[in-house]
Amino acid sequence: MKKVLVTGGAGFLGSHLCEALLERGYDVLCADNLFTGNKANIAHLMGSPYFEFIRHDITFPLYVEVDQIYNLACPASPVHYQVDPVQTTKTSVHGAINMLGLAKRTRARILQASTSEIYGDPEIHPQTEDYWGRVNPLGYRACYDESKRCAETLFFDYHRQHRLEIKIVRIFNTYGSKMHPNDGRVVSNFIVSALKGEPITIYGDGRQTRSFCYVDDLISGLIRMMESPEGFTGPINLGNPEEISVLELAEKILMLTGCKLPLEFRPLPMDDPRMRQPDITLAREKLDWHPRVSLEDGLKETIAYFRKLIA
Ligand code: NAD
Ligand code: UDP
Ligand code: UDP
Repeated sequence: MKKVLVTGGAGFLGSHLCEALLERGYDVLCADNLFTGNKANIAHLMGSPYFEFIRHDITFPLYVEVDQIYNLACPASPVHYQVDPVQTTKTSVHGAINMLGLAKRTRARILQASTSEIYGDPEIHPQTEDYWGRVNPLGYRACYDESKRCAETLFFDYHRQHRLEIKIVRIFNTYGSKMHPNDGRVVSNFIVSALKGEPITIYGDGRQTRSFCYVDDLISGLIRMMESPEGFTGPINLGNPEEISVLELAEKILMLTGCKLPLEFRPLPMDDPRMRQPDITLAREKLDWHPRVSLEDGLKETIAYFRKLIA
């Protein structure tokens, strides 16, 4: 039985990943400092003899024996990663060094949850893995973008210098159940506002675009990448190429919740990318992976989840 460490395992993606790994017969160790994560996300796994939770901050060393490491620890919502930007950088950089050190000692295979933010406000569209990106190193998003870029550098240097088996996944906007209702990201914000009968907050003119992937699709991609042949490091884009503007997303969520609410326009945050869409040719070729859940079906599932939670 393979022993797997999931850092950030009590968060949105991490908790879904822990569940999927248990279902596939892995022995799962979840490490999380509960900054944006929540024990409620993993409460249903606690009874399993193959699941273990430790409250741990990955900026500090961790000595455990494992075969695989999924490094997901890091707040992902701009609202939360900007609360304590220095801690965000420490989590991505010191955290990566500790997890790479752990992988080096145990010879574990290690996967990094990187991000489309690597590409910044992109000049090429859709984004392919060979694009180096356009990131402002001084802005409010830099603590996240630049530290995730540095983590990719560390992964490649440990790979070249210490022959570590690494896997780098660039995750594009993903949504679904277990997102925190106050997470601050657009899908949860719009659904929670709609269900509470509050105005829908549009930042800027709402013409900026994103491409939203349903959580189940993303998790299957992460596991396929971890299990891909030795020597295939990535980086690889994982996301749903179905692109939509923020304004169209608001209209879709209002339609699916059956709510009629005003739109409230607010200033666009600094360095907010104007467009984003993954080119997933590489994932199709190397992992035989592509998303299966449409935005409409995924939103219906997510709305049902928040409806229950809020009630
Ligand atoms: P999340 O905020 O729900 O989960 C992050 C988890 O990491 C939380 O449980 C949090 O408590 C934990 N954490 C934060 N700092 C930590 C530390 N120092 N030590 C230990 N645990 C710590 O976010 P998510 O959406 O589940 O994102 C998971 C990962 O995927 C992140 O690395 C994020 O950058 C990446 N990612 C997510 C998306 C997305 O759309 N969801 C997109 C791109 C990249
Ligand atoms: N580390 C860890 N767990 C381990 C092994 C290492 O957390 O099982 C940490 C350790 O604190 C170290 C970091 O990983 O600072 C990097 O380890 P590496 O072996 O690359 O560097 P060194 O120990 O030589 O500085
Ligand atoms: N956004 C918005 N209203 C909200 C939350 C977000 O208009 O209540 C916008 C935000 O400015 C961005 C897009 O939605 O253009 C996606 O934001 P999110 O924070 O979800 O992710 P990211 O910007 O990191 O892709």
